[in-house]
Amino acid sequence: MNTSFWWESLEPWIKRPSLTSNLDVDVAIVGAGYTGLWSAYWLMKTDPNLKIVILEAEHVGFGASGRNGGWVSALWPAPLDSIVKQRGKQRAFEFQSRLQELIPEIGETLKAENIDADFKLAGTAVFATNQAQLNRLKSENQSYLDLGFNESDYKIDYELANLPLVPDLIAAHTTRHCASINPAKLVTQLAKVVEKQGVQIFETSRVTFIEPNKVFTNTFQVKAKNIIQATEGYSYSLKHNRRKIAPIHSLMFATDQIPESLLTKLRIEPGQTFADARNLVIYGQRTSDNRIAFGGRGAPYRFKSQVGKHVEMHQSAFEYLQLALVGLFPDLKPYVHSGNHKWGGPIGVTRDWRPTVSVDPKSGVCYAGGYAGDGVAASYLAGQTLADLITNTHSVRTTDPWVNHQSPNWEIEPIRFILINFVSKLISFADRKEESANKQSWMMKKLWKILKG
Ligand SMILES: Cc1cc2nc3c(=O)[nH]c(=O)nc-3n(C[C@H](O)[C@H](O)[C@H](O)COP(=O)(O)OP(=O)(O)OC[C@H]3O[C@@H](n4cnc5c(N)ncnc54)[C@H](O)[C@@H]3O)c2cc1C
Repeated sequence: MNTSFWWESLEPWIKRPSLTSNLDVDVAIVGAGYTGLWSAYWLMKTDPNLKIVILEAEHVGFGASGRNGGWVSALWPAPLDSIVKQRGKQRAFEFQSRLQELIPEIGETLKAENIDADFKLAGTAVFATNQAQLNRLKSENQSYLDLGFNESDYKIDYELANLPLVPDLIAAHTTRHCASINPAKLVTQLAKVVEKQGVQIFETSRVTFIEPNKVFTNTFQVKAKNIIQATEGYSYSLKHNRRKIAPIHSLMFATDQIPESLLTKLRIEPGQTFADARNLVIYGQRTSDNRIAFGGRGAPYRFKSQVGKHVEMHQSAFEYLQLALVGLFPDLKPYVHSGNHKWGGPIGVTRDWRPTVSVDPKSGVCYAGGYAGDGVAASYLAGQTLADLITNTHSVRTTDPWVNHQSPNWEIEPIRFILINFVSKLISFADRKEESANKQSWMMKKLWKILKG
């Protein structure tokens, strides 16, 4: 059973049955997170006669989709420059614009399907509390402006009275293109919607092998014209793509409930998402029940891409995150303590930090993932794109820059283990350095360039 805080807000639910016979279908989907479910949803919207099954190793929303930070953002994990280099400025602008348009569109889809996932379009603010962070935000902002966006989309806001009350705040990078949700509400209700469309979901049905037009569990096989592998951070368990995705763990905790008056004093709006511009990713959202759900990276990568409880509960990473939140909002200290609800989960990262949606027409095997921690909105687009590609529906999405993008393989172990943990140590070191020297670490600039292109 998943133990993310978000599941506490749900009604108790009954496990779905597992696969008990061989099947012959149009599309077999492996994994019941957002990618698998949105793909099923959009396929059924495009062609309601399709026969679709989803095979899930644990239960709906067991993975990152039931545990994440709930940012529905237009963030793209790789630098925008990499899209410009690949497709030119105009296509990069169009693609980023589409990512932005997705945010309200997701809100509309949830409304149309009666999915109540606490969706709130409240925007986001990324704080700079030292010069190094401000420089980083400026250069990020510039890359949006260079592409053709303007201040109504992205800006550096120096008006401190408009921003949450963070000590030492110099400015913040703000954008309206971000909503927040309760992720577990979304994934569990979306599963019910696709079942109503006629999709069958089998839980406790781990796929052990995928081959052209067939997926196998330990006991049964499903023949399918198309197979969608939607296993993200858990992909290592399937032999054929062990070097494609590395699971990097993101950890979270939820504070105690905070009085509304204090949140108002701190200028943290309902549904607000926020972060700061340190090198180590951190992120927070004000939940619908007035907590801060806060998370970030910093847990070590485990040899041979291990995932599971033993990796997710990394004590010193939690302590770091709790200190980080209290550093941003010292008044929240009484609501942050060792008894807070804590959890974690794997994000899927490719070697060049770029997600992909791919289809192999020969084998029928499709894949979407590698969102590197920015998959809540991107998985919706992945689902739409896979539906277009599988049903041969002509759309602007089918030529998007991530379609059939092939990332290089990760290094073999133990080099992968050494590399990822070395980079993780460097990130923490750079943050400490930046805080004391108050200037951006040239080492991190170079490192990101090498890693992300
Ligand atoms: C702590 C945390 C915070 C995050 N915060 C954010 C955020 O704020 N905003 C954002 O955009 N993104 C965030 N992300 C990333 C985002 O949650 C993911 O990108 C997204 O949920 C990926 O969805 P998915 O369906 O591809 O993968 P998952 O939700 O991980 O689903 C994969 C599913 O496949 C199943 N599976 C795996 N192997 C098999 C198999 N062999 N057979 C059958 N089933 C299998 C798993 O059990 C799982 O249910 C966060 C991730 C984490 C872990």
